Amino acid sequence: MDYPHLFAPLDLGFTTLPNRVLMGSMHTGLEDRASDYDRLARYFADRARGGVGLMVTGGIAPNIEGWLKPFGGRLAMPWHVGRHRKLTAATHAEGGRICMQILHGGRYSYHPLQVGASKIKSPITPFTPRALSPRGVERTIRDFVNCAKLAQDAGYDGIEIMGSEGYLINQFVAARTNTRNDEWGGSAEKRMRFPIEIVRRSRAAVGANFIIIYRLSMLDLVNDAQSWQEIVQLAKAIEAAGATIINTGIGWHEARVPTIVTSVPRGAFVAVTRKLKGEVSLPLITTNRINMPEVAERILASGDADMVSMARPLLADADWVNKARAGKADRINTCIACNQACLDHVFENRHASCLVNPRACHETELVITAATVRKRYAVVGAGPAGLAAATTLADRGHRVTLYDQSSEIGGQFNMAKRIPGKEEFAETLRYFGHRLADSGVELRLGTRADVAALGSEGFDAVIVATGVTPRMLHTPGFDDPRVLSYIDVLRDNKPVGKRVAIIGAGGIGFDMGEFLVEGAPSPTTDIGRWAREWGVDLTIEHRGGLIEAKPEPAEREVFLLQRSEGRLGARLNKTTGWVHRATLKAKQVKMIGGVSYERFDDAGLHITVNGKTQTLAVDSVVVCAGQEPNRTLADALIAAGVPTHVIGGADVAAELDAKRAIAQGTRLAADL
Ligand code: FAD
Ligand code: NAP
Ligand code: SF4
Repeated sequence: MDYPHLFAPLDLGFTTLPNRVLMGSMHTGLEDRASDYDRLARYFADRARGGVGLMVTGGIAPNIEGWLKPFGGRLAMPWHVGRHRKLTAATHAEGGRICMQILHGGRYSYHPLQVGASKIKSPITPFTPRALSPRGVERTIRDFVNCAKLAQDAGYDGIEIMGSEGYLINQFVAARTNTRNDEWGGSAEKRMRFPIEIVRRSRAAVGANFIIIYRLSMLDLVNDAQSWQEIVQLAKAIEAAGATIINTGIGWHEARVPTIVTSVPRGAFVAVTRKLKGEVSLPLITTNRINMPEVAERILASGDADMVSMARPLLADADWVNKARAGKADRINTCIACNQACLDHVFENRHASCLVNPRACHETELVITAATVRKRYAVVGAGPAGLAAATTLADRGHRVTLYDQSSEIGGQFNMAKRIPGKEEFAETLRYFGHRLADSGVELRLGTRADVAALGSEGFDAVIVATGVTPRMLHTPGFDDPRVLSYIDVLRDNKPVGKRVAIIGAGGIGFDMGEFLVEGAPSPTTDIGRWAREWGVDLTIEHRGGLIEAKPEPAEREVFLLQRSEGRLGARLNKTTGWVHRATLKAKQVKMIGGVSYERFDDAGLHITVNGKTQTLAVDSVVVCAGQEPNRTLADALIAAGVPTHVIGGADVAAELDAKRAIAQGTRLAADL
């Protein structure tokens, strides 16, 4: 057994969990409508079959005021129970265990009926909460208890009471959002009464043999939040009130410190859970940026926590636990913490999925079946699109030859993984490397495919995944060797000067900025440096765990430019864009919009902004001005009458990302 601590059973007294993996709560968007529960049941069943010790559903509101959004998931009436039975039955049929998270959004609820401990607006919704009256507080506690009881009726193994991330319970506990002067506020003891009463009365309602996980905010990452003494006091009271397990909560949603994005080091917050060890006797769960078994094992072996929570990693790979148990961790499809298909989707009111696993939350519809007729396919291009297509075709029993002109698989992902904070992207290439070998794809690297070579092989069809070519600009002076493309820098390691202008502020322009300002080693590999740079006090000697941020000086002076007016990075992804903007701002990168590029010469880059011409005295320019589809091969094949399918950047370059590339490759291969 490679991971003895990960696979040690956990005895809870009335039940024993088979291992130390908790699939943490994750909103998928399937919780909101009864008609989506068959899909949700299949999603949980797959993960139960994958061996996870205990799962927690996405947040379910105990009443209408607590809805995260209008008509969100709610368990308040007996007739709501039936849909939840589908989840519990599907999970239990696979030998799994499942708890339901009770989440009251409080002032984070995205509707005008929202309530709070006090009438204090949150910075992340447009609504101002109504302060709950004392009777309203009592009614809300009763709604939590009713919800817990209904969850038990629905067959859940337990509940998780969401007391962190800045939702209603957290809002009661923190002085920042609780300015009451009645029995529910005014002192730390009174502010804590709300969660304590919820846990105490829920325990009384559900009896002893039912799991109650309490998600305790241990690092608020906002001002006027809890002190460490208050956190310990609350933890002890929660234990006395009857909780079974304490789960660690990190960061309110309004915090300006990233807590789960890929640039956060793995296991960054374990010290916070460790600090509570010995203060209570309940099992403690640690969380955030734990995505591989060796990280989980290290945490458990050092006694820092009793369980590890992973949500997105189990979205990325339903078989994560079984693979780890079988000594096949190198076959795990690792969550790269990009948020692109999970959290970003949920924030856009779409169903969650996963960039590296497009079947996530689509298990009933994107089904990979054995091919009825076995065919021979060529896939040209081993970037994300081609890798997904080739491996899915081979899994179905087709014979597949995958070509790439490069000496390694991965296409543009080989550049992405070099960006500081994006090291995780290498895991996807490790995963696909094994999948190619396991599924029997014939890989021909260092081979540029053309019509003649493909034609001579007698393939039934060719899948063209040749990606993109960077857009070249014909501005005067741009033929100077000091004007580089992002490929020159990230693939070919061409030297870059100390003062640099980046042309184009899309995803790649921002990434280039981070590459140019960060010194080695990347902060992602150094928790201490990362915490210093973001002003995080992992010892929690300061309230909320916030201290002054001390960014390391930038390696270069960088100007980030775009032609359009308005804020740079406005089109970056919803849940990660602000992190990229904050990182570059902290490194003094000058961001300029509304730019016309005039010329480059020995004086630097001449630009016009608001009608005024100026010269940026830079010694290098890096062009990140988008891409064009690389369709040369596709067009030639089609002209030659070869059956051809075009996917990824070769199909459409605009707004291309790996999410689309992998999903398109997988879906095409599932249909052929
Ligand atoms: P590519 O990855 O471009 O692969 C095409 C492959 O085809 C290449 O390997 C090439 O060698 C091969 N090829 C071309 N012609 C031939 C031929 N004739 N014969 C043989 N082989 C050929 N996306 C995200 O979703 N999230 C991110 O955070 C992200 N960050 C990025 C950061 C950087 C710095 C860069 C450069 C890109 C980033 N991307 C990101 C974009 C993402 O990598 C691309 O969207 C994705 O790689 C496109 O996949 P693809 O398979 O269509 O093409
Ligand atoms: P992009 O996001 O489309 O950005 C292209 C940039 O170039 C824009 O700032 C654009 O803005 C500028 N531009 C376009 N045409 C130009 C021209 N003719 N002259 C000068 N400037 C021009 O593309 P990208 O940065 O190349 O990224 C490619 C894809 O990779 C993206 O779609 C993205 O989804 C993906 N990616 C994602 C991430 C991520 O973190 N999720 C990171 C990297 C890449 P103006 O026209 O205003 O100048
Ligand atoms: Fe992880 Fe990205 Fe998949 Fe979300 S979309 S589960 S962050 S790999």
